[in-house]
Amino acid sequence: MKKLSACISAVAAAAALMAPVSSVQAQQKFMTIGTGGVTGVYYAAGGAICRLVNKDRAQHGFRCTVESTGGSVANINTINAGDMDFGVAQSDAQFNAFKGVKAFDGKAVSDLRSVFSLHAEPLNLMVRKESGIKSLADLKGKRVNIGNPGSGTRSSVDEMLAAAGIKNSDFSAAAELKADEHGAALCDNKIDAFFFVVGHPNASLQDPATTCGAQLVSITGPAIDKLVSANAYYAKATIPANMYKGNTQATQTYGVLGTFVTSAKQSDEMVYTLVKAVFENFEEFKKLHPALANLSTANMISNGLSAPLHPGAVKYYKEKGWIK
Ligand code: GLU
Repeated sequence: MKKLSACISAVAAAAALMAPVSSVQAQQKFMTIGTGGVTGVYYAAGGAICRLVNKDRAQHGFRCTVESTGGSVANINTINAGDMDFGVAQSDAQFNAFKGVKAFDGKAVSDLRSVFSLHAEPLNLMVRKESGIKSLADLKGKRVNIGNPGSGTRSSVDEMLAAAGIKNSDFSAAAELKADEHGAALCDNKIDAFFFVVGHPNASLQDPATTCGAQLVSITGPAIDKLVSANAYYAKATIPANMYKGNTQATQTYGVLGTFVTSAKQSDEMVYTLVKAVFENFEEFKKLHPALANLSTANMISNGLSAPLHPGAVKYYKEKGWIK
């Protein structure tokens, strides 16, 4: 029996190979979304979006896939190079890229277009339980992961440390590990602290909190107040008590929004298809990751978007009567 069915399926496969490509297959179109490390929220949010797009593939012909990447700045640069269609990027990175300032100094990405914004992303500082680090000032002389080049975390941390008057040379080591590596490095006593700009909850903070009792530390003080009031894309944020095991106090910090971006070169059809898939399945979308649970359409189409909206998104928002 086994042999026979194998034989039949081989014949069927050969027949399928010889059959003319059907019109649906011929129309197969691809869309790619750049995210971040697999333990972050970007990767899960990108996966949620692709799942909703792919659900209606038979109608629109797009196959959506996610890629794990170095984070916001890498996503914007890869989209700009034409190697990826969409990406998730912090609202500060979106602002800096479109204007050509800070991490994008002199390299304005004028083709950058916004699609919608997503969840809030506080700047988190997580430390070894035994490190004695209770504030930014205590980081001096410690081994600190400042984030991999290409991450949004890194550009935000560079800006924050400069504002707080702290130099990388003040640390005994400034590591550049990726977000997927920082938890294990902390618990293995290779670093004392790491920064990560990320939505809550996420595995990247949960794992070290659970494995070795890692603690979140507040990022506050006059320099931070000044930084937040000088930049519209920053806002104060509180990480609630007990979000992570053993972190029984609320943590005070500030942060940005995660946003979804593309290029002006992208077709209206592709952007419209993605936006429609998200908003026609909005209740399902919000359930696909707890960090997405509190999203609202009104906020998503207005907050944190400094690059112009892509016309494919505008088309859908106008049809819905959400914008004029
Ligand atoms: N905000 C981070 C970055 O751009 C990524 C956060 C995540 O992966 O959820 O580097």
